[in-house]
Amino acid sequence: MKDKIQKLVIIGGGPAGATASIYSSRYKVEHLVVSPYLGGVAKEAFSIENWPGIKNISGSDLMKNMWDHAKEYKPKTLEGEVKEIKKGNKHFALTTNEGKIIKTKSIIFAGGTQPRRLLIPGEDKLIGRGISYCATCDGAFFRNKVVVVIGGSNSATMAAIELSKQSKKVYIIYRGEKLKGEPIWVDRIKKYKNIEEIPTTNVVKILGKNKVEELELDKKHKKSKNLKVDGVFIEIGTIPSSGLVKKAGVEVDENGFIIIGSKGNTNIGGFFAAGDTTNGSGGFRQIVTSCAEGAVAARGVFEYLNENE
Ligand SMILES: Cc1cc2nc3c(=O)[nH]c(=O)nc-3n(C[C@H](O)[C@H](O)[C@H](O)COP(=O)(O)OP(=O)(O)OC[C@H]3O[C@@H](n4cnc5c(N)ncnc54)[C@H](O)[C@@H]3O)c2cc1C
Repeated sequence: MKDKIQKLVIIGGGPAGATASIYSSRYKVEHLVVSPYLGGVAKEAFSIENWPGIKNISGSDLMKNMWDHAKEYKPKTLEGEVKEIKKGNKHFALTTNEGKIIKTKSIIFAGGTQPRRLLIPGEDKLIGRGISYCATCDGAFFRNKVVVVIGGSNSATMAAIELSKQSKKVYIIYRGEKLKGEPIWVDRIKKYKNIEEIPTTNVVKILGKNKVEELELDKKHKKSKNLKVDGVFIEIGTIPSSGLVKKAGVEVDENGFIIIGSKGNTNIGGFFAAGDTTNGSGGFRQIVTSCAEGAVAARGVFEYLNENE
């Protein structure tokens, strides 16, 4: 692999990367997919109810289906992370976490996003010791315990419902006056007796010696600013995984999302992007929009290679 120049490398194995792989295979654009794992953050969703054609499916099942489909065409895959991208005269050179150099004529960057941190005292120290950013991954550690979800978005609402099925008590703490998720999830949350909403409140500190013990709030809840909890799930949005592409000269917007044109193209010829990491689809970051952008970028690459090879 070291010396061969790839036609296309797809960076990221989430919905955007999987769809880009399916479409590229059908355009007969040989490609390599590089990702630490296949499935992306969609795997974390315990219930997906807006993927057209399927009323309800878990994120891990949906992503398994997508990759089973993509693998039918036998794309090359490499488990790893791209750490550096350099643009040469004729091709790009990618360096992986294991120091492997991969040369390629084109790239689809589909690196998605990462959870946004709260950046409050106690967060760094207690990550993995009661603080999590993924209810699906870590919810089972809090069976019959008291947990808090911080955030008022759709994923926060979904996380609270998911956790309520096994935890004794779930608080959902958010800054606004109301939850902001899809109305269907917001209505549903009211039906769970063990979920308690704490609106217009900020968590200012996470306390605990070796594990999470309590939260300090910026105002009293039931006569106290302190709330005893066993676990904290932080669901306050995401930031794009676009640091390394910015270093490579790819233009990003003020929030770090990659600026794409109508073909998934960026300001650099041969460099395309798709999915949650872009400013595309009106900023609506969903599985269906990520897949659509993956398909569009695959077609963009197909046309680019035809014009430039
Ligand atoms: C809990 C939860 C529930 C959700 N529920 C829904 C829902 O019900 N419906 C819906 O439509 N959407 C839902 N979403 C959102 C949806 O999952 C995302 O919109 C979608 O996964 C974005 O796809 P993507 O391919 O752009 O990125 P991602 O799924 O984030 O995948 C990106 C992949 O790229 C990899 N990567 C990043 N950087 C590099 C690098 N440098 N080198 C190699 N690989 C890299 C990452 O490891 C990851 O595997 C949910 C998200 C979460 C977290």
